Amino acid sequence: MALMSVADALARVLEGAMPLPPEDAPLDDAYDRVLAADVAALRTQPPADLSAMDGYAVRADDVANVPVTLELIGEVAAGHPFAGRVAKGQAARIFTGGVVPPGADTIVIQENTKREGSRVSVTTATPRAKHIRRTGLDFAQGQVLLARGRRLTERDLMLAAAMNHPTVPVHQRPCVAVLGTGDELRAPGSTPGPGEIIYSNGFALMAMVRAAGAKVIDLGVVPDRLDDTIAAIRKARAQAADILLTSGGASVGDHDLVQKALTAEGLELSFWKVAMRPGRPLMHGRLSAMHVLGVPGNPVSAFVCSLLFLVPLIRRLAGRGDLQPATESAKLGIELPANDERADYLRSALARGPDGTLIATPFATQDSSMIATLAAADCLVIREPYAPPAKAGSACVVLKLKSPL
Ligand code: AMP
Ligand code: MG
Repeated sequence: MALMSVADALARVLEGAMPLPPEDAPLDDAYDRVLAADVAALRTQPPADLSAMDGYAVRADDVANVPVTLELIGEVAAGHPFAGRVAKGQAARIFTGGVVPPGADTIVIQENTKREGSRVSVTTATPRAKHIRRTGLDFAQGQVLLARGRRLTERDLMLAAAMNHPTVPVHQRPCVAVLGTGDELRAPGSTPGPGEIIYSNGFALMAMVRAAGAKVIDLGVVPDRLDDTIAAIRKARAQAADILLTSGGASVGDHDLVQKALTAEGLELSFWKVAMRPGRPLMHGRLSAMHVLGVPGNPVSAFVCSLLFLVPLIRRLAGRGDLQPATESAKLGIELPANDERADYLRSALARGPDGTLIATPFATQDSSMIATLAAADCLVIREPYAPPAKAGSACVVLKLKSPL
């Protein structure tokens, strides 16, 4: 199969991928998720005229000329309305959030009064309607304040709660089964035998899945055996994963069994091999409803392919409109030779030049097995296929990686 461009491959991955159906998610599980329907207020806020200050609820006419002494007839605290009515010459003690009692039409703040037993003298004139939050000041019942398609912020959760919604209708969280493959892989903390290495890439992939708003099914690692690989694929299907993400075993070696196993299970292959570096042997297909992304085992390839293809797929299933990680422009810190037919994603350091522009400096060695430089990189410099030689200081496109700061 010929190499496919990154853009075409991404279009294939997203083709036919629809946002998952809605579910009513509790507010504490709704952050950053996408509304599948409009949300209208179930109540008016504030539900009554409330005092904005600690003080006294009075009639404005009574406090137009001061000093004046008023008779105290009761107390109103938040959540404890006062049954009586404030008549001429009277006042009710009131606290922030208390319902302004009938008859009263302004609030004199505590600081402008002197309490004398069952009387209070007002020392400063206060106009009508001072320090009163009117019914519906914030919002009214029936108002749609959160629209379908919105990705919920922390503030939106506060608003949904205030509107009296214990749950909100959001697209279901995509579920991603993550599978490592390789005879040579051992868990971190183990004592590897000769030729063995530590299973590492899955920890980045699982974190990336969660950060993109999806759930993880951790399928661990299978050895390079057809039956074990098939068993793991079946586990992903049995658990109704929306996406199966495999790493390793996707190349052309005798021990690269992932595609063989998937084919045996009925994979509809959409592509295998993309014009990119790192990550050429990237595979995508469908097993019925389940998307399958097979990324190469080399940790940097696995990471870059997941960032470019898995994250947009998760976002699409989650109902998001912004699918691709954002890119920015910068200037190259070094010169680069002409590029070949594969798009390059170069691990690079970012700094600010004297005039504030971003300067991206690709690391000298870009081997796709090198995890330390992946962790050290601030961004990936993206070089298009067949890009001509580029001088230091020329414009480039960068994809910023999550900063540890
Ligand atoms: P593969 O894609 O299976 O041919 O693997 C390519 C290279 O990546 C080999 O050197 C593997 O040992 C290594 N590798 C594969 N899977 C992982 C993994 N999960 N963590 C770290 N290295 C891996
Ligand atoms: Mg392998």
